[in-house]
Amino acid sequence: MKIGIVGLGLIGGSLAYDFRALGYTVLGVSRQPQACVDAVKLGAVDAASADLASLAPVDVVFICTPVSVIDAIATRLIPHLSSQAILTDVGSVKGSVVKVLTPLWPRFLGGHPMAGSEETGIHAAQSQLFASNPYILTPTAETPPDVIETMTALVDKLGCNLYRCSPTVHDRAVAWISHLPKMTSAALITACLSEADPEIVKLAQSFASSGFRDTSRVGGGNPELGCMMAQYNREELLRSLQQYRQSLDQLTDIIERSDWSSLKALLQQTQTERPKFL
Ligand code: NAP
Repeated sequence: MKIGIVGLGLIGGSLAYDFRALGYTVLGVSRQPQACVDAVKLGAVDAASADLASLAPVDVVFICTPVSVIDAIATRLIPHLSSQAILTDVGSVKGSVVKVLTPLWPRFLGGHPMAGSEETGIHAAQSQLFASNPYILTPTAETPPDVIETMTALVDKLGCNLYRCSPTVHDRAVAWISHLPKMTSAALITACLSEADPEIVKLAQSFASSGFRDTSRVGGGNPELGCMMAQYNREELLRSLQQYRQSLDQLTDIIERSDWSSLKALLQQTQTERPKFL
């Protein structure tokens, strides 16, 4: 089987490493000539080019670019695909992508590997990035069964924990554990910066340690990722933010009333529940 990867960045490059290690022929496409050279030199792909037509012989193509350009790339790629080729993507939002790509290519199946980092580009790519992590496939009623079967087998070979759900359900679930945390972590940093006394800000910056590192990590990460989440998963993100505001109001109310037993009960509950998310 031949696999095509469009976008030789962190996710595309990491997928390329793993598929190549599994014995598949991997062809890459990147706009940057240097990324093509580097991807071949690093051993991520068998060959790479800036030309989407180079993917004509592949059986499965993974589009691994920012969500905002997936539809434009698919439109340019489709004329080069064989009729049996399977098209998939790795975008962190599924509803909008699946809605646009399904009518373009009947053998499209949306996907989302839940692994990554704040780093970008082919040099950030690593093998085994996805092993033991969730990989969500989002078929619709129209997705051909053999497409689901092939993609399930490929995801399984990566050692991922496979989940299948509708694009809508995917977007609601990731709003809670990925998109809401990005915004609340950013809000934490902006709240700290709102301190009026510059001396206090300076001291807080010097005192910050592991707790702040954990809670501010995603808020201090790639801005484009956060903008993509808000733009393409707007409704679900707003829904989760509104609920989060209620949770903050509840905490504020408890502390204003010095209701320490309620605070302890709430924190005991969060301590018990957190491991279920990780
Ligand atoms: P990345 O390292 O920046 O890679 C993105 C790739 O897309 C680059 O290789 C770039 O290739 C290409 N690209 C960027 N803009 C483009 C454009 N306008 N037209 C064509 N190609 C373009 O980012 P990434 O983290 O791999 O993210 C890729 C996808 O994975 C995104 O859809 C993201 O939602 C999803 N994802 C990310 C994570 C994560 O934690 N990072 C996790 C799961 C899923 P060239 O500039 O070389 O052409």
